[in-house]
Amino acid sequence: AKGAAMVTAVAYRLTDQARQIRETLAEFRLSKTQLLEVKKRMKVEIERGLGKNTHKEATVKMLPTFVRSTPDGSENGDFLALDLGGTNFRVLLVKIRSGKRRTVEMHNKIYAIPIEVMQGTGEELFDHIVHCISDFLDYMGMKSARLPLGFTFSFPCHQTSLDAGILVTWTKGFKATDCEGEDVVDLLREAIKRKEEFELDVVAIVNDTVGTMMTCAYEEPTCEVGLIAGTGSNACYMEEMKNIEIVEGNEGRMCVNMEWGAFGDNGCLDDIRTVYDQSVDENSLNEGKQRYEKMCRFLFRGQISETLKTRGIFETKFLSQIESDRLALLQVRAILQQLGLDSTCDDSIIVKEVCGTVSRRAGQICGAGMAAVVDKIRENRGLDHLNITVGVDGTLYKLHPHFGRIFQQTVKDLAPKCNVTFLLSEDGSGKGAALITAVGCRQREMEAQ
Ligand code: BGC
Ligand code: MG
Repeated sequence: AKGAAMVTAVAYRLTDQARQIRETLAEFRLSKTQLLEVKKRMKVEIERGLGKNTHKEATVKMLPTFVRSTPDGSENGDFLALDLGGTNFRVLLVKIRSGKRRTVEMHNKIYAIPIEVMQGTGEELFDHIVHCISDFLDYMGMKSARLPLGFTFSFPCHQTSLDAGILVTWTKGFKATDCEGEDVVDLLREAIKRKEEFELDVVAIVNDTVGTMMTCAYEEPTCEVGLIAGTGSNACYMEEMKNIEIVEGNEGRMCVNMEWGAFGDNGCLDDIRTVYDQSVDENSLNEGKQRYEKMCRFLFRGQISETLKTRGIFETKFLSQIESDRLALLQVRAILQQLGLDSTCDDSIIVKEVCGTVSRRAGQICGAGMAAVVDKIRENRGLDHLNITVGVDGTLYKLHPHFGRIFQQTVKDLAPKCNVTFLLSEDGSGKGAALITAVGCRQREMEAQ
């Protein structure tokens, strides 16, 4: 009798657990109606960001980039590029050749940015950056060249020209002091001066989304949107000048850095945010900020082991690995073991299901935002049907086994009047910065004449 009671108890615990899991995960499952609602709200925030009287309070900032056209193939020259704000910090030399046989040749070196530097003073951060440039120039034997430089700086910046950008706020893991509210191009130029070793001509500051769009547009002229789904989440696209009310002029188009990661910071997504989203937010470096971004990537916040309580321990790469269909459950257990979790086979099934549900929501919610963007472009142009290409980069998109597919499917479902092609960018941050710098140099020459 005792045995039977125990069996019943175990069975009861299991069904109870199954019910709990089902209920918890249900909050992460969004219906089409809910996703259409996300799309609609994104559109509202886009309009607010673009409007003269609403821009100041808007959460989706819709920042002008002063990039007025995509590349036309005539870009030419040697450029330095910096890439700060993605998974790695890099310095690059990019050689672009125009003509019949267009070529782009790149050399780059990755440098670590220690966490103390990311979260130290601004001066230390920029001195470190210049130190890395110096090392790179030595390595390439180019100390005396005075090259034009494009600075891919993947944070929200208020630009007043191609080569001026005031940092609105740090995002992701950065928190260096005395930078917010400052022009980061000035900070870079000052650090170069302090070093007194070499001169550079800083021509452009570039968001990674814009670099991605430009890189893809160099190969495919219908590319007029850029997307990053990685450490951070953001998009840019070519908007009509007449709709960008905070920039003078009504002719032509300009690329707008949406900074859509901040979508929801005014509470407009609260009805779909779960207690887990709130907890991720509360335990982040930037509480209350980048709420959409935090929903578009995945952070595990279980309360199971000391190791797992460490902020950021559950890296997105674990998610990609766990959800890979080729990975046996045994290997899922090995990953959990690394995280200090003694798991059973049941646990690994649950973990896989949780990961699948959360990343599915990430892909869908990100797709809902993109559906708003492509439909906006279609309406801008007064078209019943739009063909467009989106340039994409980011570790989540590139490395996760399902995110990209779910994202694409969602865009298709929610923006049926748009035929959207997705193009993976090859090194958008480096190449794109160089292309924009080339365009910037050309603009300067024209203005000087
Ligand atoms: C930043 C954006 C950037 C995105 C992707 C976000 O946290 O605010 O400027 O484009 O990450 O790197
Ligand atoms: Mg951008």
